[in-house]
Amino acid sequence: MHVHVVGNACIDTTFRLGRFPAAGETLNATAYADGLGGKGANQAVAAARTGAAVTLWTALGKDPLGAWIRSQLDMELSDVQVSEFDLPSDRSTIVIDAGGENFIVSGVACSEAFDPIAQTALARRITPGEILVCQGNLRGAATNACLRAARKNGTRTILNASPIDEAALPDFGLADMLVVNQSEAKALTGQMDMAAAAGALAAKGAATVAITLGAEGCLVLGHGQAGALCLPAPHVKALDTSGAGDVFCGCLAGGLARGMPITSGLKFALAAAAISVTRPGTLLSCPSASEMAALVDQTELS
Ligand code: AMP
Repeated sequence: MHVHVVGNACIDTTFRLGRFPAAGETLNATAYADGLGGKGANQAVAAARTGAAVTLWTALGKDPLGAWIRSQLDMELSDVQVSEFDLPSDRSTIVIDAGGENFIVSGVACSEAFDPIAQTALARRITPGEILVCQGNLRGAATNACLRAARKNGTRTILNASPIDEAALPDFGLADMLVVNQSEAKALTGQMDMAAAAGALAAKGAATVAITLGAEGCLVLGHGQAGALCLPAPHVKALDTSGAGDVFCGCLAGGLARGMPITSGLKFALAAAAISVTRPGTLLSCPSASEMAALVDQTELS
């Protein structure tokens, strides 16, 4: 079963330094590196490493950075459908201090211009039984158009409503499965209790709601169950949780595409995300294809 991931791909430039600079101050980083990033790219790579067939639909600028991002995507994915724009490719600068605090500045011109249904063959490519994954980086209207096309074609949808743009939220009623983390669930519903938050999100129309709870695992509501079900995360020593949510979503899609029922897909995603938090980096920390194969076997046997 095929997974289509619609979303952003960018370059993440990460600077590590002892402390954040004050306004007007220049500091030298202790370390810095470029890497492939963007929630669309991260989730597509995670899904592909599960062994599922994956297409990433993304937007890049016609600039050297766009060519570099494309080359990185091609190393991981066999099918990348790029819409090119006369705009600077998306990029993020991530600054991390000695205490692990960070701030991030992003340029998102291509994501904002990207309208997959208007600009690509996505609507003709998605078929019944396939899975479409969207996030919150594209404009809400563009995401809605993708979800609507999927519904019309009988394609199952996972909406990871992250990041949240309150002014242009996608329509949760168009998603078969809505995935958010705790802070997103609180921001979207005003509820501090996650079972109540899941109920409030389900009331907005998503058939199944999954709220990720960091080290506590995840809570799922829907798919024919009477109440919310809590699935624990494996106990690990967390080193860096950045990108864990993307590993979770990509692996959930990959697991479902491989035929896992929802609860097994969630357990598989929890196992993969737990591995990722024990390692530094975002995409770098994602389990390899061989690690995923072992996790798939464990999940299918459990
Ligand atoms: P979060 O966005 O923090 O909810 O994290 C997303 C997913 O990553 C969680 O649902 C877990 O599967 C995994 N995760 C995050 N932090 C930890 C942790 N400390 N230990 C194990 N898994 C984690």
